[in-house]
Amino acid sequence: MSKSLSPVCKLCRREGEKLYLKGERCFTPKCAFERRNFAPGQHGRTAGRSSNASRTGRESDFARQLRAKQKARRIYGVLERQFRRYYETARGRHGLTGLNLLQILESRLDNVIFRLGFASSRAQARLLVTHGHFTVNGRRTDVPSMLLKEGDQITVRDGSRRLVYFKNLEAESRNAPSWLNRDLKNLAGAVTRLPERAEIDGSLNEQLIVEYYSRR
Ligand code: SF4
Repeated sequence: MSKSLSPVCKLCRREGEKLYLKGERCFTPKCAFERRNFAPGQHGRTAGRSSNASRTGRESDFARQLRAKQKARRIYGVLERQFRRYYETARGRHGLTGLNLLQILESRLDNVIFRLGFASSRAQARLLVTHGHFTVNGRRTDVPSMLLKEGDQITVRDGSRRLVYFKNLEAESRNAPSWLNRDLKNLAGAVTRLPERAEIDGSLNEQLIVEYYSRR
C-alpha cells in the first residue's frame, strides 16, 4: 500500500483550512493550524494559498479546481493515480459524476471504519485495517481501499476484540451516519445504502473536481 508521506498538518495549512486528519488532536490547542494559520514554506505568510492569487488578488478557475481536488484527495488520504481512477469509475456510472465520485470515496473501507467510530481518523482506520483487525462479510481483509457496497458487514476480528483499544471503544460517543448501521456492543457495522449528497462533507466541491479532470 502506498501513501502520502507529507506531514499531515502541512496539508491543512496548504489548503488554508482544517482538514481534521489527526483525530482528537485536531480539536485541541495543539492543532498546528490554530498556531500557524498560513501556508507552509519560506513565503507562506505572504503567499497564502497561491502566490499567483496573492499577486492578482483573485484565484484562477484552474487554481480553484486544483485546490478542490487536492482537498478531497487529502481528506480521504488517496494518492493522485488512484483518485483519477475513482474519477474514471465515477464517470462510467449512471448519474452525476461528482456525486458518484464522493460516494466511491465514502465507500472505502478505511472511511467506513472511521465513520463507524472504530477509529478517530481515516489514517488510524487505515492502520487498523492493514494490521488485519477487521473482517468484511466474514473474511479478513487488510486492504483499506476496498470499496464496500450496500449490505456489506464489517466486524472486528475475534482475535482483536481482547485488545485494550477495542475494549475501550464502547465509550465512543460519536454517532454513525444514517447510511451505516453500527453495533458498538458487538464491534460490528453494516452499509445499509450509499450516502446521499447531504450526508457527505458539504465543504467538498465535486463540481470543481469534475471540471478539473474534464479539462485535462
Ligand atoms: Fe489539520 Fe488536525 Fe493537524 Fe490541525 S491537528 S493542522 S486539523 S491535521
